[in-house]
Amino acid sequence: MSGVNEIRSTFLDYFGKNGHEIVASSPLVPRNDPTLMFTNAGMVQFKNVFTGLEKRAYARATTSQKCVRAGGKHNDLDNVGYTARHLTFFEMLGNFSFGDYFKERAIDLAWTLITRDFGLPRNKLLVTVYHTDDQAADLWKKIAGFSDDRIIRIPTSDNFWAMGDTGPCGPCSEIFIDRGEHIWGGPPGSPEEDGDRFLEFWNLVFMQYEQVTKEERIDLPRPSIDTGMGLERMASILQGVDSVFETDLFRTLIDATASALGRGPDKDSVASFRVIADHLRSSCFLIADGVLPSNEGRGYVLRRIMRRAMRHGQLLGAGEPLMWKLVPALVREMGQAYPELVRGQALITETLKLEETRFRKTLARGIGLLEDATATLGPGDMLDGETAFKLYDTYGFPLDLTQDALRQRNISVNLDGFQDAMARQKAEARKSWAGSGEAATEVVWFGVRERTGATEFLGYDTEQAEGVV
Ligand code: ATP
Ligand code: MG
Ligand code: MG
Ligand code: MG
Repeated sequence: MSGVNEIRSTFLDYFGKNGHEIVASSPLVPRNDPTLMFTNAGMVQFKNVFTGLEKRAYARATTSQKCVRAGGKHNDLDNVGYTARHLTFFEMLGNFSFGDYFKERAIDLAWTLITRDFGLPRNKLLVTVYHTDDQAADLWKKIAGFSDDRIIRIPTSDNFWAMGDTGPCGPCSEIFIDRGEHIWGGPPGSPEEDGDRFLEFWNLVFMQYEQVTKEERIDLPRPSIDTGMGLERMASILQGVDSVFETDLFRTLIDATASALGRGPDKDSVASFRVIADHLRSSCFLIADGVLPSNEGRGYVLRRIMRRAMRHGQLLGAGEPLMWKLVPALVREMGQAYPELVRGQALITETLKLEETRFRKTLARGIGLLEDATATLGPGDMLDGETAFKLYDTYGFPLDLTQDALRQRNISVNLDGFQDAMARQKAEARKSWAGSGEAATEVVWFGVRERTGATEFLGYDTEQAEGVV
């Protein structure tokens, strides 16, 4: 049985022994990168090294990178609790070559680690390559002894990585494991590929081109390697469980939740326990990295995550604020690998407690309103935008919280109606200000309000051009 802490150190030690510098995770809030909301892949901290803008003392590196995918281009928030493999916070293990080794060595290193050190069954493994990447296909044949049917050629951008419209780019090769018929799903490229049976656990990116202009792509003189393996997914494979939520770390967090609530998960409540455990991790790590709940930008994404978890706590019958009570369990499990959790423990605890104490004042009434408004609705129906807006404006329900609350009943929200209600409220507020005679102040004030209002409603939607390991 390999616990997550052991898997992390096995990975880092392996690449360390193979000449890679072991580099610490960078913070979740990317430095010097306003276009990216949260660090969402291991390569983010090395972006400028890949492009040559920045030089490091080493040409090979390995990391365990904290990642959050809860906004922007990579948003797994709605998947959490409903698939067996998606988390909003996860650790991405990676090895990087900055113009040093390339495809052959990268495949060889990966194959040796997973089959020798991790002992994965060879006959259950398969890979994808970009459809034109004959070189990668041939290397997989040679190194892994795969027959053609285990090397799936994928023609979509899923298997072609680009840093942005210009800059380094190249084909990917993803490694999958077949976990057996008892889990729904099909191989990559098949109609059932979204299932969890064939689990993607490692993505190897071969940076071999530079996109100079939209039309022109040239070969990089010294191609590079960027890989990302999901630690929690590897843990689920090595521990022989069907989902990341059944691994050692998540079991501990779910047990802590169960003992705080005085009840354990059952078939109907298991998704709530999972959401709480996941959102606890992303909330705590974000706070430790300096994000605080607010009504815009990163802080609003954090608030949405926290409040979603809090609604699930309420659903499970929490009679008082719950999240802060789970912090010690998380710090025990992850504090050694991430000392910022220990340093930030007091702030994390207070922030969670305060937010939940506040939100609980309106949460129950909001849920009451939501229940009344949907009492006569059934699967396929839509909640009117007016009510969704009232929940947002008066009860502090982020739009996605309302959507999440209605998801199990298959009820959606009228988004146009929601936007109309918001626009109407703004117009009303503007009208009532008109008589005040302070025209200059008004213009400034509404300017600010409109901007923050818009961010609040959309969460944070800046397109992210990078970090797609
Ligand atoms: P998926 O197709 O399952 O959503 P992905 O292709 O979006 O995964 P990559 O961007 O290739 O993922 O990231 C590299 C690796 O990081 C993945 O192979 C996976 O092991 C892990 N990973 C990605 N997203 C998540 C997530 N939300 N939770 C846990 N692990 C993840
Ligand atoms: Mg994904
Ligand atoms: Mg994928
Ligand atoms: Mg992938």
